[in-house]
Amino acid sequence: MRWKTLDDMDLAGKRVLVRVDINVPVENGRVSDTTRIERIVPTVRDILAAGAQPILCAHFDRPKGRVVDAMSLRVVVPALEQALGTKVVLIATLDAAETRPDEAREAGVVLLENIRFHPGEEANDDGLARRLAGLADIYCNDAFSAAHRAHASTEGVAHHLPSCAGRLMEAELRALEAALGNPQRPVAAVVGGAKVSTKLDLLGNLVGRVDHLIIGGGMANTFLAAQGIDVGKSLCEHDMTETARSIMAKAQGAGCEIILPVDVVIAREFAAGAPHEVVPATECPEDAMILDAGPQSVARVNTALDGARTLIWNGPLGAFEIAPFDTATNAAAAHAADLSRAGTLVSVAGGGDTVAALNKAGAAEAFTYISTAGGAFLEWMEGKTLPGVAALEG
Ligand code: ADP
Ligand code: MG
Repeated sequence: MRWKTLDDMDLAGKRVLVRVDINVPVENGRVSDTTRIERIVPTVRDILAAGAQPILCAHFDRPKGRVVDAMSLRVVVPALEQALGTKVVLIATLDAAETRPDEAREAGVVLLENIRFHPGEEANDDGLARRLAGLADIYCNDAFSAAHRAHASTEGVAHHLPSCAGRLMEAELRALEAALGNPQRPVAAVVGGAKVSTKLDLLGNLVGRVDHLIIGGGMANTFLAAQGIDVGKSLCEHDMTETARSIMAKAQGAGCEIILPVDVVIAREFAAGAPHEVVPATECPEDAMILDAGPQSVARVNTALDGARTLIWNGPLGAFEIAPFDTATNAAAAHAADLSRAGTLVSVAGGGDTVAALNKAGAAEAFTYISTAGGAFLEWMEGKTLPGVAALEG
């Protein structure tokens, strides 16, 4: 690894500016899901245990460079204190943090107010980056989920302080490295979801790097159509069939096997419990929609997983929000979970709907690693450089 961790830093007596992602959902003035807050606890604890002071810096919602009281980080303080088991002091302005440093020093854990209140944050303004750097001796980035953005607190500040990755960032990078950087082969990838157009770069990168590419969900329909198969009223991007053909050609050249559904579940309406039937993938009636992969397709996927040592999963195999069109996703997820528990498969998954689908299937716990970093996870899997990670390496 070319980046440092907290273990490489001399922390005692230092002030550590920690970029975290605590952009949590709030309902009726209370944090309704504390997952992101819980995930930063190890970093904050380790910094405190080393005798250093954490100064947390985060964004919340999209105030677009203006002070919006309704987007104050005040609302997360109780949940943060509960998770950390210590008092947290919110410092409302950078001026206050700069002019009254003693106040900050006496508070155990300091939280700076929503950094996106400053127009310089999203503009990656060097002036703001220097002001942030001035508050601390060390910069620790623990916000992998914000690392695909070059902002003052995620990228700029790293150029002005000795920098390292926090525990969560470290765990994400190691898991992604194990999945795609330097994986145990064979590697299988499941790419599903709605559209080819949103996952073009992902498909393009994966075909050159994995051994089996399992395509499911709505995007499989586009690949079927690209082979001249009539998919009826299914979700299908007919303007992407040429692209699908070029992805298939690239896969063939790279020795990557593309696995498409051989049978599918069709229905005439997209509703819970709608009348449905299984037909061969080549025989979707013209008035029907493909909403899930069929049992033979699932068996084919599971066989590929049996032979694999590493699995990357992004996107459900069907319209998993509505039963019974979650069947293929649930079955393949359960099989991947079994193989992970048995220790034969390293399984890494990410994506908003993917995480929801794996949770719904009861499989998430058994996966080796579940990334909660939607956009950053995808960009890493697309082979792109994440500015927040690159800055730690520099
Ligand atoms: P993620 O958020 O994990 O990256 P996506 O947003 O790409 O995943 O895809 C999830 C969406 O794809 C879900 O809303 C699901 O209903 C939809 N989907 C999957 N298969 C189909 C299908 N056959 N027809 C229509 N929509 C589908
Ligand atoms: Mg989604």
